[in-house]
Amino acid sequence: MHAAQPVPAIIGQPGVGPTVLQPQVLHPADHLAIRRALRASRLARRPLALTLQLPFCANACHFCTRCRVITKDRSKADDYMRLLGREMETLSRQLDRRQQVVQLHLSGGTPTFAGHRALVQLMQNLQRYFDLSDLPTIDASVAIDPREVDWATLDLLRGLGFNRLSIMQPSLDPAVQQAINRLQGEQQLAECLTAARTLRFHSIGVEVMSGLPEQSLASFRQTLETLVAWQPERIRITRYHHQPQQYPLQRRINRSRLPTNSEIKSARTWLEHYLHTAGYQQLQAGFFVLPQDPLAMAAEDNQLQATSEVISSVLDCDSLGLGLGATSKVKGLSWRNTRQLADWQQRIIRGQFAAEYQYP
Ligand code: SF4
Repeated sequence: MHAAQPVPAIIGQPGVGPTVLQPQVLHPADHLAIRRALRASRLARRPLALTLQLPFCANACHFCTRCRVITKDRSKADDYMRLLGREMETLSRQLDRRQQVVQLHLSGGTPTFAGHRALVQLMQNLQRYFDLSDLPTIDASVAIDPREVDWATLDLLRGLGFNRLSIMQPSLDPAVQQAINRLQGEQQLAECLTAARTLRFHSIGVEVMSGLPEQSLASFRQTLETLVAWQPERIRITRYHHQPQQYPLQRRINRSRLPTNSEIKSARTWLEHYLHTAGYQQLQAGFFVLPQDPLAMAAEDNQLQATSEVISSVLDCDSLGLGLGATSKVKGLSWRNTRQLADWQQRIIRGQFAAEYQYP
C-alpha cells in the first residue's frame, strides 16, 4: 500500500520513527536532470519497473500516512485514469518503446476504487506506451483492500495479467478496527483470500500493523493466528507511529489507548517465534515469507531490495512511478511526484513532468 511516503517502520524498531529522506524542491525548470536520466535509460534500453499510484479511497483510516484522496465520488477515478494515460504518454516519449517492463505494481490509495472500465483502460494505456510483452511471467501485483473487491474484480485483475496480491489487514480485532476507522471483518478477508486462491494468484501477501490503539498482545496474536491458517506466502508487519502534527487525521486516535513500547516489544518476540514455528522465514525485520516464495531464494543469494512499496528480488532496471506522489529512480536519480491532486492534474494537462522533489 505506500512512495516518497516515509518507509513504514517495522515492528523491530520500537519507538523509532520512519526514515525520511531530505528532499530538494524541484521546479519544472529543474527537470533537465530527469530528462537526462530518462535519456540515459532510453539509450541503454534499460528494463523498467513500473509503479502506478491510484490514490482514491472511500474512507479515511485514521492511522494512514499515505498520499491519498478521500472521496465517495467514483467518477473522480475515471478522470484521474485519463490523465494517468497522459502521464504515460509524456514519460514514454523520453523512453524507447522496446524497454521491457519487468515489474508492475498498482498501489494506492485503493486501486480497485476505480471501476472495471477504468482498470481496463489503464491496462490498455500501459500496453500502448510500454512493452508489456512479458506480462505473463513478470511480478505483477495490486494492493488490495478487502472491503473494496469482490470476486468479479479479482477475476478481472487476474484476466488483465496481475498475479500477486498485497492485502492490507491492519487487525482483525473489532475494537482496534473501530479505533482506526477501518471496519474490515474476517468474513471479508476470507472471501478475498478464497477468491484469490481459486483464481490462482501466484502469491498473496498480507500486511498487519502493530502498535495500533486498543491493540493488546492477545488481539495481535489472534489476528496473526487467523492469518497464518490461510498460509499467505508473505506476511509484513509494519508499525504504527503516532505523529499527529504531521498527519492531522491521527489526532482522532487516542494516544492513551496506544500500546507501550514494551508491549510492542513483547509482541515482536512472540511474533518471530510464532512465525518461525509456523514455517515462515524472516527476510527482513517485520517481513516473513514461506520457503517456496521466490523471495526466499533471492534472499539466500543476497538479492533482495526494498522500497516503501514493494520488496522484490534485485532487478537490473530503472523504477518509474506514475501518478500522485509516485516515486522514481532512473539511472541513479530519484524523484517524487507532487502530492497535490490539482497540481498533478495541471502539470499533466500541460504535458510536464509531475516531479516535485529530487532526492540525493
Ligand atoms: S485505504 Fe489505505 S490508503 Fe486509503 S486511507 Fe486507508 S490505509 Fe490509507
